[in-house]
Amino acid sequence: MSVFNAYMTLSGAVDADFVRDEPLSRRTSYRIGGPAALVAHVRDYAALVRTVEVLADEGVRWVVLGKGTNVLADDAGYDGCVILLEGEFARVNVSVEDATVTAGAGAALSRVVNEALRAGLSGIEPCVGVPGTFGGAISMNAGSRREWIGRRVRDLVVYRPGEGMHRYEGGEIEWGYRATSIPTSEVILEATLSLMPADKDAIAADMDARLRRRRQSQPLSHPSCGSVFRNPPDRSVGALIESCGLAGASQGGAQISEAHANFIVNRGGATSSDVLALMTRAHDAVRARYGIDLAPEVKFLGFGG
Ligand SMILES: Cc1cc2nc3c(=O)[nH]c(=O)nc-3n(C[C@H](O)[C@H](O)[C@H](O)COP(=O)(O)OP(=O)(O)OC[C@H]3O[C@@H](n4cnc5c(N)ncnc54)[C@H](O)[C@@H]3O)c2cc1C
Repeated sequence: MSVFNAYMTLSGAVDADFVRDEPLSRRTSYRIGGPAALVAHVRDYAALVRTVEVLADEGVRWVVLGKGTNVLADDAGYDGCVILLEGEFARVNVSVEDATVTAGAGAALSRVVNEALRAGLSGIEPCVGVPGTFGGAISMNAGSRREWIGRRVRDLVVYRPGEGMHRYEGGEIEWGYRATSIPTSEVILEATLSLMPADKDAIAADMDARLRRRRQSQPLSHPSCGSVFRNPPDRSVGALIESCGLAGASQGGAQISEAHANFIVNRGGATSSDVLALMTRAHDAVRARYGIDLAPEVKFLGFGG
């Protein structure tokens, strides 16, 4: 595999910028992570396809990242290419007549939420305050515990490497709690949400209430990846970890938040090893006490994978 060959072939040849050895701490909300061998800022479909083809030819692994708000990146970095969708991929279009919002995967989720509010379209309120991109939200099926974005997806366009574009109807996809049936080999390019006309003031009031609850319950003053573990059915991970006496436990620069024990925050200089050590502690304590095997919600980047 040769990242260097891929870089030399791609640089200047496609509508994209390529950066070598860029620290992932700049690309994740955790502010953690060593260098990615290559970061590709891709602005259109042709550039994406060509980039993926060249990476495949050179045997370089790759991953699409949104804003990195649900990612723990390895201190040792990632030996592949991180692809970021920008330019054309950040478009947002609203159709008030159809009550739809169509957005590219690279658009900020907050922009999609705000455009829906401005147009008086309801349905995406559970995503207010969720950081990241629209593509990241679709990939994670973001939202609250019981209301998630997948329920609003009318259709979705992906890129299947080696094949081209493929369009799904929203109903063809299985949407679960922070999970979808979209294969991880596919790149989400764009989706259309089917929303409902509603009173703007009512939508705004609902969003305000959700934002207030978020500010009260989440430690937003330190970098984090949001919830670290998925909630088991009918249980709250935060409460489980807290009942094991681990709220406030720290390792290096990382700490299990006292405000919400399912958040591990970076209090300054935390490493991925610090976060992993606390995750292991919380996981083992909950398993020993409750027999529950907590599953991570956070995605791992690097770590040999
Ligand atoms: C303070 C805080 C609060 C949060 N609150 C919530 C919450 O209330 N609800 C919630 O659901 N989440 C929450 N999160 C988690 C996170 O914001 C969401 O999961 C978000 O949707 C991730 O978007 P992203 O663009 O940052 O994706 P990333 O973190 O960059 O990526 C997440 C995953 O999606 C994949 N991915 C990203 N884009 C694409 C694409 N175009 N095609 C294919 N795969 C892709 C990545 O490879 C990765 O596996 C919170 C995070 C933080 C830091």
